[in-house]
Amino acid sequence: MAAPALILFSDLDGTLLDHDTYDWSPAIPALNRLKARSIPIVLTSSKTRAEIEDLRSAMGNSHPFIVENGAAIIVPENYFDPGPEQTLYLGASRDGILQYLHELRAQGFLFTGFSDLTDDEVASHTGLTPERAARARQRMATEPLIWQGTDDELAKFRQALIRAGLQALAGGRFLHVMGQFDKADAMAQLKGLYQHRWPERKWQTIALGDSPNDQAMLAGADLAVVITTGTGEERIQLPPSHPVIRSRQPGPEGWNQCVMAILDCYHRS
Ligand SMILES: [Mg+2]
Repeated sequence: MAAPALILFSDLDGTLLDHDTYDWSPAIPALNRLKARSIPIVLTSSKTRAEIEDLRSAMGNSHPFIVENGAAIIVPENYFDPGPEQTLYLGASRDGILQYLHELRAQGFLFTGFSDLTDDEVASHTGLTPERAARARQRMATEPLIWQGTDDELAKFRQALIRAGLQALAGGRFLHVMGQFDKADAMAQLKGLYQHRWPERKWQTIALGDSPNDQAMLAGADLAVVITTGTGEERIQLPPSHPVIRSRQPGPEGWNQCVMAILDCYHRS
């Protein structure tokens, strides 16, 4: 029987990229093996389009990618069908989100969002260079923020967001305010596009992630790869019977080991 057609959906920060240095070089052996097998790697992140484009070109990745926690899917030109690049939106507009956050702040909730910060301030909170921070601030449909209130106030803030059709997802560093979609919705939509374009192949999804904002994607994939945070804190809960591999090492080292093991299993050679 032919091996299933695999698609990898990978989170970036703390998963394919080192949480602190953003280095991904330890994953190069597995990335090269995936490339040699023509297995798509879909970068799936809370990062912006401008940030992910940078990484894609550094990695030589030519596949679709998912930005801002599933807010949009970017399909490169001529990828599924002949034609220009496409952007498929899943979420609310950023203007609407910022307007509502403004109302919540007026009610007394305490937080600082990317839109309140300069490039240099975002740089100091993230360890990004000011140039990279500028790319991180070019957002389409989500607002990352630093929570400055109490846990009780955060619970009320979350309820207010849900009433407005929004939500707050915890990423590696920030709370991401966004529409009620997540990486799993974008993954399912993109898998559908692969299945539609190449219906003779049985597409299977492998998702890799380390944070609560990856949980739905991990639970929705045929195989979940949980990359350890290395802190001993277990933040991902999956249904008991869900197929899962857990990495021993954090970041790109763990990514590399897990993907190598999966390829050994699916593609013996
Ligand atoms: Mg992460």
